[in-house]
Amino acid sequence: MNYYNNYSFVCKICKKEKAIIKIPSQRIKVCKNCYNQFFENRIKKTIEKYKMFHPSDKIGIFLSGGKDSSTLLMALKKLYPEINLQAIFLNLGIKYYSEKIESYVRDFCQKLNVPLYIHNLVEKEGYKIDEFVFTHFKNKICSACGTIKRYLFSKIAKELNLTVIATGHHLDDIVSTMLALFFQGEFLGLSRLEPVLNPFFPNQAKKVKPLYYIPEKDIIYYATLNDIPVSNLLCPHSEKGPPKKIKKILDELEKENNQIKYQLLSVFTKKLIPLIKSQNFYKKESFVSTCIKCGEVTSSLNNICSRCKKIELLNKTENKTLELTYEEFINCTKNLNSNWILIDLNNLKEKNLLESSLRKLHKFFIPYKNKNIFLIGEDPEEGYFLTLKLRKKGFNVYNIKKENT
Ligand code: SF4
Ligand code: ZN
Repeated sequence: MNYYNNYSFVCKICKKEKAIIKIPSQRIKVCKNCYNQFFENRIKKTIEKYKMFHPSDKIGIFLSGGKDSSTLLMALKKLYPEINLQAIFLNLGIKYYSEKIESYVRDFCQKLNVPLYIHNLVEKEGYKIDEFVFTHFKNKICSACGTIKRYLFSKIAKELNLTVIATGHHLDDIVSTMLALFFQGEFLGLSRLEPVLNPFFPNQAKKVKPLYYIPEKDIIYYATLNDIPVSNLLCPHSEKGPPKKIKKILDELEKENNQIKYQLLSVFTKKLIPLIKSQNFYKKESFVSTCIKCGEVTSSLNNICSRCKKIELLNKTENKTLELTYEEFINCTKNLNSNWILIDLNNLKEKNLLESSLRKLHKFFIPYKNKNIFLIGEDPEEGYFLTLKLRKKGFNVYNIKKENT
């Protein structure tokens, strides 16, 4: 999509340079410099309004490879060139995805000259997110991944002596999540969606959201205008959860009322959250202690945090194999008698099944439900992502990878 235009008039702000881009939330057309200044100043105002950090702070930004965290890093580096910034990348062990994002993030941090710390889940923690397809979290991997990430945010913050963690949540994220939590009656979660979350204990980092008032569209324009490398890769586990559906509805409502997102944010932050915080249930449920296994903060009654419970599930699963070499496949089939089938991905492609709906795929594979299914094809990534999809549907599937992948 092209966001620029060579307008025949000058920038509405500086009145000198040629206007090339519209500020989506303001509906005025400006030059590149004025767009950047306008955008960065709004972030600065939020940071100052909520006193998000001081010059002595060490600020960590967890990069996901997407536009939000990358934009935040670039804007903070430009606004506060002297501040102690630390970029962090969590390699979650999502095969054929995490490695590619890691390379994006490396290049970007090098370009910005910001130190980058990479935490590889497989190497440092001994498990990977893909393994949750073997647990009852197989159809809600993002929920498991979210728990793991929150734990790692806190653990890494301590290891790197971060005093502040800045996240890339923007206006659209926040309002849609607020509405989703509101519909689910999750008031405790809702109350945590404030611009600043102070830590429960003194040695923890505080969490801040400098993009709190910035609409997503403005971020897309900023990222495009400033050549921020944004990965278009989609995590194979990404789900179309309630916030995404609500985002679409909000976009529709915005066409009628361009202030709707700000109005909702104001009702939530000024009216509802203070009301929730004044209730007895809030005081009771937000009681925290530390997990007896990992030492992190938990509100769980049995003092084992939800991350440790999830890791226990992984530890209980003996065979977590998703991919085999050709040689391993041959050895494996020796013990399976005839209870297996080899499927060539080319055949699925000819039948247009790879891009088809999950329902069609399911129909094709259902006759093999009780067999071990081995997938083979030219592109191991394609086979691997299909393996994940079918595992989530309860099939016993393995991808056969090429020797050098
Ligand atoms: Fe984790 Fe889900 Fe995000 Fe993938 S899409 S990185 S599984 S939260
Ligand atoms: Zn724990």
